[in-house]
Amino acid sequence: MTAELISGKEVAQAKRDQMKQETQELKNKGVTPGLVVLLVGENPASLSYVKGKVKACEEVGIYSELKRYPDTITEAELLKEIERYNRANNIDGILVQLPLPAHISEHKVIETITPEKDVDGFHPINVGRMVTGQEAFLSCTPYGVVEMIKYKNIPIAGSHVVIVGRSNIVGKPAALLFLRENATVTVCHSKTPNLSEITKQADILVVAVGRANLISAEDIKDGAVVIDVGMNRNEAGKLVGDVAFDSVKEKASYLTPVPGGVGPMTITMLLANTIQSAKKRLGN
Ligand code: NDP
Repeated sequence: MTAELISGKEVAQAKRDQMKQETQELKNKGVTPGLVVLLVGENPASLSYVKGKVKACEEVGIYSELKRYPDTITEAELLKEIERYNRANNIDGILVQLPLPAHISEHKVIETITPEKDVDGFHPINVGRMVTGQEAFLSCTPYGVVEMIKYKNIPIAGSHVVIVGRSNIVGKPAALLFLRENATVTVCHSKTPNLSEITKQADILVVAVGRANLISAEDIKDGAVVIDVGMNRNEAGKLVGDVAFDSVKEKASYLTPVPGGVGPMTITMLLANTIQSAKKRLGN
């Protein structure tokens, strides 16, 4: 079997076209959705991510601000900035690009963003709302993964979803989202023995580790849906995922490429969350 590739670019474009219309409708009612992105330091990868986010905002008509701070900024100063944006009437979403310098607590930063503007879906209140089935901002990467699968009409309910990775930003929220979609979910991590025995049971396998070639064809069952969240640079400096693309492609039913898979979806769901937040300003 040769897998059908799920193009994140294509799914993202379809969603962004729809968002352009929603944004225009909001503007007609006097509300321009607004996102502020706060970047501390000079990490080139982070700078490239935040520029991508700002560009995507422009594409759909969302107002965006990129605020840059030196890595000498104190935690207190950064928290003050966040509080300022919590109060700003033209801002619906606040995103602080991670990672942060070691002297700044990521937990404190996330918890200072008001849950109503936490469009990354990282605040414990949003996580708690998601877990208990209430309306919440969903964490963008897992949200994007679920949306890609739905776009292809791949059934989730009743399927066995195996997630490799248990970070707070990808693995754990992905597990909870798939559970909400009525999948049976297994979560694996670095202490999981016999990883391959478990991944081979997956109808849908989501890999979010950050290690090139962690999963190859012998680790999946015939016809599995494989979602590769990983982003790694190989020896040649090329961007690759966690899945050995060439071999898995010949055994999976669906596979996401890297680049052009989950990445564009993550940004798109950030835009979706910002628009969702702006709608609240109108009271709907
Ligand atoms: P983290 O480093 O926070 O988490 C990695 C997870 O993988 C941990 O839970 C770790 O286990 C687990 N792990 C490590 N080694 C193994 C192993 N040998 N076998 C099984 N599990 C293992 O990473 P993130 O979740 O932040 O990101 C994961 C990947 O996804 C990265 O490549 C990142 O760049 C990418 N990413 C891509 C995004 C996109 O938009 N495409 C967005 C966000 C991330 P343990 O908990 O035991 O340490």
